[in-house]
Amino acid sequence: MDIHVISAFPQILAGALGESMLKRAQDRQIARIFLHDLRAFGIGKHKQIDDYSYGGGAGMILKPEPIFACVESVRKQHQVDCALTYLTPAGKVFKQKDAVELSFRKQLFFLCGHYKGVDQRVLDQLVGEELSIGDYVLTGGEIAALAVVDAVVRLLPGVLNDIDSADTDSFQTGLLDHPHYTRPEVFRGVGVPEVLLSGDHQAVQRWRDEKSIEITRQKRTDLYEKYIEL
Ligand code: SAM
Repeated sequence: MDIHVISAFPQILAGALGESMLKRAQDRQIARIFLHDLRAFGIGKHKQIDDYSYGGGAGMILKPEPIFACVESVRKQHQVDCALTYLTPAGKVFKQKDAVELSFRKQLFFLCGHYKGVDQRVLDQLVGEELSIGDYVLTGGEIAALAVVDAVVRLLPGVLNDIDSADTDSFQTGLLDHPHYTRPEVFRGVGVPEVLLSGDHQAVQRWRDEKSIEITRQKRTDLYEKYIEL
């Protein structure tokens, strides 16, 4: 999978992309992730990328010219023909099922906003999809893009060593995850549930399923109600 991200602050992404599973996915050539610095397409000797808002008001707006130039350059140089996805609080809220859907695509192309946002003509003419990572406002789209890229890339075959560990994570089954324990068997007087030490795989699975249901019912009634409707 090829992933392209346009950002005015690509270093925010670079750190996270160089660690853990995102790094492994790139080292194993399962995902190629390209960061495109919007400032390289800035205007004039100061490489200006933002300007005041027509009509007044606080906050700068990302100018259309650098974004159009950057998007056109990426499309041409890397043969990118998928929709451009803008990260925005106004977008569709990103869920695990969206991560699964995106994980089947060959290319992803993201635009991170910053400051007060981007010029509306970018949204009208360049953007095909809008995604939000939740009902709160971030400083920029970089952390949102990272959240989406991370959730998608860890689903690509070969990234996690044991694909089961993605299949059994929260939301994949419609439920939250069950509790996990590791060594030591007793820690500060609290032991691991007996069943996990029994070696009875069916009993372990039953316990995990029951715990998943119980935790979902306690913590996420919305998910629990959907689950019991099925
Ligand atoms: N004026 C915008 C509004 O009220 O919706 C917020 C702008 S925000 C400070 C700057 C940028 O961060 C946005 O253009 C967007 O790219 C990104 N952003 C902020 N919150 C986000 C969220 N919940 N999901 C995705 N992107 C977000």
